[in-house]
This record gives sequence, C-alpha cells and structure tokens, in this order.
Amino acid sequence: MASEKEIKEIYENGMNILEDLTNNVQEIQEQVLEEILKSNAGTEYLSRFFPNGEADNQSFKTNVPIITYEDIKPYIDRIANGETSSILLAYRIIQFLLSTGTSGGQPKLIPMTAESFEKRMSDLLLSDLVTRKCFSGSDEGKSLYLYFIKPEMETPSGLKASFFTTFYFKTESFKNGLAKFFTSPIDTILCLDNKQSMFCQLLTGLLQRDEVVRFGSTFASVLARTIKFLEDYWRELCCKIRTGYISDWIIDPGCKNAMSLILTRPNPELADSIQQICEDKSWEGIIVKLWPKIKYIHCIITGSMSQYVSLLEFYGGGIPLVSPIYNSSESSFGINLKPLSKPFDVSYTFLPNTAYFEFLPVGKDGEGKTQETWTDDEPVDLANVKLGRYYEVVVTTLAGLYRYRVGDVLKVTGFRNKSPQFQFVERRNVVLSIDVDKTTEEDLSKAIMKAKLILEPLGIMLTTCSSYADTSLTPGRYVLFWELKMKGRNDLPKLDAKIMEQCCCIVEESFDFTYKSHRKGGAISALELRVVKHGTFDELMDFYVSKGVSVAQYKPPSCLKSEEAVKILNSGMVGKFFSPKTMF
Ligand code: AMP
Repeated sequence: MASEKEIKEIYENGMNILEDLTNNVQEIQEQVLEEILKSNAGTEYLSRFFPNGEADNQSFKTNVPIITYEDIKPYIDRIANGETSSILLAYRIIQFLLSTGTSGGQPKLIPMTAESFEKRMSDLLLSDLVTRKCFSGSDEGKSLYLYFIKPEMETPSGLKASFFTTFYFKTESFKNGLAKFFTSPIDTILCLDNKQSMFCQLLTGLLQRDEVVRFGSTFASVLARTIKFLEDYWRELCCKIRTGYISDWIIDPGCKNAMSLILTRPNPELADSIQQICEDKSWEGIIVKLWPKIKYIHCIITGSMSQYVSLLEFYGGGIPLVSPIYNSSESSFGINLKPLSKPFDVSYTFLPNTAYFEFLPVGKDGEGKTQETWTDDEPVDLANVKLGRYYEVVVTTLAGLYRYRVGDVLKVTGFRNKSPQFQFVERRNVVLSIDVDKTTEEDLSKAIMKAKLILEPLGIMLTTCSSYADTSLTPGRYVLFWELKMKGRNDLPKLDAKIMEQCCCIVEESFDFTYKSHRKGGAISALELRVVKHGTFDELMDFYVSKGVSVAQYKPPSCLKSEEAVKILNSGMVGKFFSPKTMF
C-alpha cells in the first residue's frame, strides 16, 4: 500500500513527476510492457502465444489476441474457484474488484494486486495535487465527500471481491491519510446502510459547515442523490442540530458512536441559519449557501454523468465543477490536468506508467457516427494516436489483463508534452437498437442536450434521463424517460403537450440518416417521451443497488435492458408524449 513516504513524495514532487511521465511516453510504455512480459509471459494464459519462448514486445503485439472480458472469464472463474492465480499472473492477487460493467448480468471480477492498487493510488494522489494547486486555500479546510460502501463477497477460493471504493475506504492508507481531512467520520462512510450513512455524513457536514472547502463524491449521480436527500431530510437534520440528539433510526453502532462524539450539544443558532437557507423558495446555489467556503465541486461529470451538469451548476450556484479522473476497475487511465475546464471540455491525460495502452481506431461514418466494429487498422500505441481521431482503449496490466478491450470510446483532444489527452465519448456497447438502426450513447446524449434547451427558459430542469427500445410493438420505437422538475423547487412542471412534442421532434431530428430513413419508411414508430416525477430515478438507483451495485460506483444506464427497470420508471410516469407521426 502507498506508504506515507510515497504519499509525501507525490505531494512534494508531483509536478516534476508529471513532467517526467508526460515527456517520456514511448520509453515508459515500452518499459511497462517489458516488465509485464518478464513477470507474466510464463503464465498458462500467455505462454500459449509464445511457442518458442521469446516473449518480447514485438511478438506480444503480433501474437497475443485482442480480447473482451468473456475471453478471460474462464481463467478468472478458475481462480475464483480455487486454482492458483499463476495461471494468469505472477503477482499475488489480494482480492477481486467488482466492476459495474456486467458480464451476463453479473459484475465482472477483475484481479487486483498490491502493485495495481498502488498505481491507482498514485494517479489519485497526482490528480488531487493538481486540483489543489488550482484553488488557493483549498489545502486548509475540510472535504465534505459523500462516500459509501457495499458488503464484500467471497469467492469459493476464499478471495474477497468488492468494489474498488469499498476496498479503498477500508485501507489504512485512506483512514490515516485523506480521511483525516473529511467531515465524515470514517465509521459513517463504512456503515453498510446507505440511508443512515447519508444522514450522518450530511449531519456532520452541516455541523462543520464553516470548515468545508470541497464538496464531492465519486460520480455526479451520487451528488444528485445527495441533493434530493437533503430536500427530503433537511428539517430532520435541523432538528437534530437544534436538540443535540441523533435520530432513533440511526442504529448502526459505528454511526451512533461517531455521532455521539460530534453532536455533543444543542446548537439552535446553527439550526436556525440552516433552516433559513433551506426555507428559501429557490434552492439555486444551495450548496454554496450552506457551505459558504466551498471552492469547487469534485466528482466525475463526463460520459453518462454529463446529464447532471446543469443540476450541479444550478445547486452549486456556479462554483467550478472539477472532474478529476478517468479510471475503471480494470485500470486507471488518465487524470484531468486542467481542473478548471468547463464540464463539456474536460479531457484526461493518460499517464504512461499506469499500464500498457493501445488504441483501436474507431471508424466514424459520414455523419460522424461511431461504427459498430473497429476498422481493420492495427491498434496504435499511446505515443502514436492522432489529434481529433476516435479510439477504443485496450489495456494490458501486470494484474492479468492482456490486450483487453475496456469498451470505452475516446477522442484525442490534445497533448500534455508527449502524452495524449482524451475526451470520453461513450461506452461502446450502449446502444438503442431497432431493426437495423443503432443509436449510440453519444448520439442520444447529443440529441437530448439539444432538446432540453427549449425547457430551460421555462424554468424546467431535466434532472436525469434514460431510454429503451420498445420492440413489443411493430414497428418498434425508442422511448425516453425524463425526470423533470421546476428549477429550485420540487413541484412538477406544468407540461405543455406542444412543447413536449417539440422536444421529441428535436431528438428525432438530431438522430442520424439511418434512423430518419427508417422512420420515414415506417420501420420505426414515432419516438415516445415519458415524463416521470421527481425521485423516480432514485428508485431506479435503489433497484440496482439492491441487485449488488455500489452507490459509490453507480452509473445510471443510458439505455435500459431490464424489464424490471422499465417498470420502475413507468410507475413514476406523469405524462407521455409522441413526436408527430408525420414528422418525416
Ligand atoms: P467501474 O469499473 O465500475 O469503475 O466502471 C468503469 C467505467 O466507468 C469506465 O470504463 C467508464 O465507462 C466509466 N467512467 C469512469 N471514469 C469516467 C470518466 N471520468 N468519465 C466518463 N466515464 C467514466
């Protein structure tokens, strides 16, 4: 685990480390691959590809196939069932990480070693350092970071499996390092009941409101949920501050104990000032009003999280949103070296010492739409990607992944020294599909961005959205779910059918030629927009959490595949609208 000395080294010398890494991309990448092969070429998995025993970087690229999780799963399953991990990697596995990306409905199991954990930590620390450098004075105060864990699972072999966040929050390096600067006592983060945990974390954050300089979480979806929780519970939170007693329903021993050390006396003055802020008709800027020293909001806001940008801008009162890092259970990828970038301009700089990266050129058709499979071009090295081009990232790690397709499509937007910077474009396998039409996550999100613009002047906010392809009818149609509310209030907006239909038209207009020609030819029915009431997407999150997903790593699905999930959203429906049948 990252020792205090290593952490200190990164904080003291981090900017030089970054210069060095970004200047020597090719050399460092070659060394990383050499090291991986030196240690793992003899494993059962890799040795098949080196029949004459020569495992150099060139033969790796020629012989080893590019794979997906399904190709490596039999090896992972054997290890999980008790076979030695040396069939796949040389280093000892400390546990499996659970990924929110699923394999046949189950989270993927990704091996983690002490070394792969340290690499992630060093990227996290570097990103933290870069962000702090951007905001003077942010070193002095505390962080109100809403973090949650999920119970660990155990594989038949006795190896544990958990989400990365759960593993990390339980480490000594977290407890003795970053956690010391948090308003949330560690026991409230480690509480397995998410509701008790959220209540206590918000309460401790409010009790220390004058010290908080950073507000954040892992993903923007968690902060959206936090704001909704605050709307539902602020009265009870004020009451606890006023009386100095914790609610009876807080029964988790860790939370009770932690709260007894912080909630030590009645504080009616503090309760009054919080109450006054929360009673205000508009909640615009509520985050800065409650925590006036906050300098920035810190959470991932790119990719599927971009749907929360306007919500966080509104409640954050315009303070900067910082999207720090791009990573996954498989590997860390890149960090944001320009924390002040606007949310839709965020790019992540890949650090070459993290893993060995290759990039499959992704074809774009005439309309700029991502093609289904990558072109026949060879994968490109990190040092050779081209500005403006799209790629799918492929990763090779010391922890047993070899030429593994992560499934994310990225666009090269620039370079820091020689290290490329990428914008996250979309998840590869997330598509709405009817007949021969395929509408990708990127197409969908661009179309929704355009359509929601006509709601904004009316004071209506699209808080979150999803979609599915309804093929129960012939011809099938795409259905969008939108959760709408009035800006700053929880009231349901008055839905003007004409305006909502116009939203449907704008979405359809933005789709590509294939969609439009199928729609015109009658092979796809008019797009349907279902508006759901505020809080419905929280129920969807609860559903996925009950199925095993961690709140801290939850990403709302852009396209629903589960009937149960569709049912949950349908149950909150307050209106449905169609684009005009004759539109095309
Ligand atoms: P998990 O393995 O559950 O942590 O999920 C990893 C996936 O989350 C990645 O492959 C991405 O699709 C997504 N992800 C992680 N970081 C970002 C980011 N900064 N921007 C957009 N998507 C991200």
